[in-house]
Amino acid sequence: MVQIKELICKLEEQRSLTKEEFVQLLSDISPEDMEFLRVRAQETSKKYFDNKIYTRGLIEFTNYCKNDCYYCGIRRSNRKVERYRLTNEQILECCKEGHRLGFRTFVLQGGEDGTYSDEDVVEIIKMIKKDYSDCAITLSIGERSYDSYKKFFEAGADRYLLRHESANDEHYSKLHPQNLTLKNRKHCLMNLKEIGFQVGAGFMVGSPFQTLENIAEDLLFIKELSPEMIGIGPFIPHHETPFAQYSQGTLEQTLKLISIIRLLMPNALIPSTTALGTINPNGRELGMQHGANVVMPNLSPTSVRKQYELYDNKICTGDEAAECRFCLERRVQKIGYELTVDRGDFCAVETIK
Ligand code: SAH
Repeated sequence: MVQIKELICKLEEQRSLTKEEFVQLLSDISPEDMEFLRVRAQETSKKYFDNKIYTRGLIEFTNYCKNDCYYCGIRRSNRKVERYRLTNEQILECCKEGHRLGFRTFVLQGGEDGTYSDEDVVEIIKMIKKDYSDCAITLSIGERSYDSYKKFFEAGADRYLLRHESANDEHYSKLHPQNLTLKNRKHCLMNLKEIGFQVGAGFMVGSPFQTLENIAEDLLFIKELSPEMIGIGPFIPHHETPFAQYSQGTLEQTLKLISIIRLLMPNALIPSTTALGTINPNGRELGMQHGANVVMPNLSPTSVRKQYELYDNKICTGDEAAECRFCLERRVQKIGYELTVDRGDFCAVETIK
């Protein structure tokens, strides 16, 4: 067996490993090796981004969903969720407040809500771009056709988040009902790339039935797809889903994966997610110290926050946008980083700072 430190150096130099090597790195490693990995990842992040953390304002504009993903709290079959849709005026109000607070990226996320036609989404994009032409728009509204994605791009959307969830067919089918396939998910990601979006893929750490081999496959898939953004966070059970009884992903494995992904994709945009902040009060700070360089505070109206509960005990559901923004700023500063207010586009240039 190769020494773990050698594997970490190889990952840093070659920006990839074999599946077997990833599995070895993902197995239990000593605290010293873990610290070595963390420092390599943090230094890589600093080399490309200095001490800057990008910030995105998240607007959860609908919790209606036609899908029935086994892990997700807003899945169609959960009849206990009170469903909501923000009006276009409410969305614009969130942007107004967000812009005032310094956000230059708005992330529009929602369930797969069939009532929004392509034209409805286009209208929202154009409406935001008209008032906030200096801002980037990120969509996260699930699977749509090539033509729909193209319309969104042409209307001015810049980025698209669509986690691949699992790069292994069998595992994917244990997380989703039959009508949702990995093949289509991948197809959507390819289409988004081809159209010209900055694309985000990713997966949950510790989701039910996930093996270390599965995670190694996720990493190899990410390397191959080469997305601009990679979102990972721990799986957290939601009490009204088929996965209510499964245990959550661990802090350690999530942090380790953030570091591995930083070394795999040195200049990628990697968020320190709300799910990470939910399983540990210091989770998001730890994420940044392990190589993450993005945070996504919530801009949704406080009145609907509780209804966008993908998993139990989600944090910040009672706070105003401004509270979230300043709370994160303090947290970031406390660990020696700085929140930046520019758009924070992906930059292909080798050295960014
Ligand atoms: N409908 C959109 C947005 C989904 S929500 C789409 O399909 O892309 C964004 C992400 O939250 C999902 O991709 C999933 O990885 C994550 N998520 C959902 N349920 C979760 C849970 N129980 N624990 C942790 N993360 C979860």
